[in-house]
Amino acid sequence: MKRYLALSDHFRARFGRRVQKIPLDAGSGCPNRDGTLSNRGCAFCNPLGSGSGLSSQGFDIPAQWDHWTKRYTVRHGGAPLFLAYLQSFSNTHGPLARLTSLLAALAPLPGCVGIAVGTRPDCLDRAKLAAIANFPAEEIWLELGLQSARDDTLARINRGHTFADFARAVRLATEVGEGRIRICAHLMAGLPGETEADFLATVDALAGLPVHGVKLHNLLVCRGTEMERLWRAGEYAPLERDAYADMVARAVARLAPDVVVHRLAADPAPGELLAPAWAADRRGLRAALLARMEELDVVQGAAWTPPTGETARRPEGAG
Ligand code: SF4
Repeated sequence: MKRYLALSDHFRARFGRRVQKIPLDAGSGCPNRDGTLSNRGCAFCNPLGSGSGLSSQGFDIPAQWDHWTKRYTVRHGGAPLFLAYLQSFSNTHGPLARLTSLLAALAPLPGCVGIAVGTRPDCLDRAKLAAIANFPAEEIWLELGLQSARDDTLARINRGHTFADFARAVRLATEVGEGRIRICAHLMAGLPGETEADFLATVDALAGLPVHGVKLHNLLVCRGTEMERLWRAGEYAPLERDAYADMVARAVARLAPDVVVHRLAADPAPGELLAPAWAADRRGLRAALLARMEELDVVQGAAWTPPTGETARRPEGAG
């Protein structure tokens, strides 16, 4: 049985076939790295800003699209549809004109049925959200990093924003998007100083907001990060795999039934992972997560309590 609403199932319901997300590196910056807020970045962020680094290697957007879509077409066969995912760094950072020219470069990409724009909650305003909402495609996702609903944790990992900033961005995107923008929140388990209860409280905090999707991540200790320093100093110990599996199973149960689960775990880039070693075994981890859901007989939404006066989350036409 389907224990949670996976992104692949959401796409099949909407488009009748596979839709492959294509990660794109647009050479964007980040206010948490360029000195606007800080030069240090988030404690877990690798120097590539969770991206491929292809932009700095001279690959423009069409070249990256060509590279990845050919690869996925060979791998999966048939004629998959694609969704352009602006993944690296904070893609709405900087002037509006930069974002509009970036979106203009995505519109003509062959086979592109939608976009996902990754950014920070403090890099959005009405004009930028309107530009995203007006993108000519059926499926528009705004991927917002939150990681934790605890402001003391956000300060500890140098996020440079608060939970209130995130909630404000979600509400503004909902208002400006008028049903066109789906919001995906990125959450992280195993943050320094946090317990399972803190992680689950963050999951619960989403219930009061018009959020349509989540990405669940286990914290990775990556090369060149503040987490590497803490880990080497013995000041941070990553989660064990079984503990993460418990957290994911309990989180899924607490999600609203129509929230799309984009990810169950982080996906380390080649060469970046220092710890925990189990995070490199993607297949084994996925099997362990699914097995734990089976053992606990978890079904998405079983432990979800709708907040009173809940704002409608579902954009028009959502499958
Ligand atoms: S906001 Fe994103 S890109 Fe910027 S430092 Fe944090 S994780 Fe990295």
